[in-house]
Amino acid sequence: MERRNIKQMTLEELEAFLLSLGVKSYRAKQIWSWIYQRHVTDFASMSDLSKDLRSRLEDLASIGTLAPHSAMSSTTDRSVKFLFHLDDGLQIESVLIPERHRMTVCISTQVGCALKCRFCATGQMGFRRDLASWEIVEQVLAAEEYMANAEQEGMRRISNVVLMGMGEPLLNYDQTLRAVRVINHDHALRIGARKITVSTAGIVPAIDRLAGEGLQVKLAISLNAATDDLRTWLMPINKRHRLSTLIDSAKRFVETTGKRITFEYVLIDGVNDSRADARNLARLVGDIPCKVNLIPYNPHRSTPFQPSSPDRVQAFRQYLLPRCPAVTLRASRGQDIGAACGQLCTDSVKRPRRAGTSRRPAAHRRAAISRPRQKK
Ligand code: SAH
Repeated sequence: MERRNIKQMTLEELEAFLLSLGVKSYRAKQIWSWIYQRHVTDFASMSDLSKDLRSRLEDLASIGTLAPHSAMSSTTDRSVKFLFHLDDGLQIESVLIPERHRMTVCISTQVGCALKCRFCATGQMGFRRDLASWEIVEQVLAAEEYMANAEQEGMRRISNVVLMGMGEPLLNYDQTLRAVRVINHDHALRIGARKITVSTAGIVPAIDRLAGEGLQVKLAISLNAATDDLRTWLMPINKRHRLSTLIDSAKRFVETTGKRITFEYVLIDGVNDSRADARNLARLVGDIPCKVNLIPYNPHRSTPFQPSSPDRVQAFRQYLLPRCPAVTLRASRGQDIGAACGQLCTDSVKRPRRAGTSRRPAAHRRAAISRPRQKK
């Protein structure tokens, strides 16, 4: 009989499993505390369980663990990129981002990604598989473990979790939500739901579903363009969920949850950073209780794009400031170790054929968009 991975179970499932062994359900909380709060990886160390129970658990159950295969520290900031080898040989990455008042971990929800956003390195590697919830949670545990060992200036615990690593969380909905619940649970990782951000390229039915979960998690929508033409060119998922339906779902999310939403907007040189782009964006989201998070593009060798110049970033921001409820500029972290947004990629991907594809020539926008692949 295959041993059941305790880390893939909810607390209720663990309780039911223990009951099926004739063990009182309160033991489940003890086991969770060993696993998620004391980082124990074997039943033998759970000293408040009877020897008999420990040995039965060893026979019937396992505690899945992912130890980072490598941890690469940035030399320009203190971020750390972790590479994990999964049991089937596939690989994922996550990033620890220390800031003055918080310790954020950016985690992956899939191996690769199916959405093929033109500017994103993960998109270039294609989709391999969904992560199981325990593999998602392990990335947080591993980051805490790393911090405990590295003794980073008093910060011992992760304060914030962002699901902005590899993959589209809302296309792996059930496992992602399961993981979020463990990360948030009082008897597990205890990270406040308000400190957990789910980021999506815009899977409309899943946004509605998330709104109805009764969770306090934050939602970020990666907008990156404010017209359907440009967005479809950058993010093919826009063909399925057009901007108007996406914006409607964002409004419903705000109404249902009472929470402000974040729109992420990656600023790419010559592609989506003009004054007209800023105007379209302000018109689209200006009356929604939201924050617009501007992210200067992080270059990657698999994409031809470049970041907007600091002047253009400032001009874009200045235009939005009086027209949107809140505008922030995300400082880029971990660029030197390929750990910044959109740089996570665990496959060798081809270099773009020509650097010239990075520019969206305004006059030829339609022609360029109508082609499945821009071949200029
Ligand atoms: N699939 C989800 C989560 C992963 S991407 C989503 O799309 O939201 C997380 C964020 O990184 C998104 O906002 C995306 O637009 C941004 N991003 C992708 N590639 C980037 C790059 N090269 N530079 C800066 N941000 C990038």
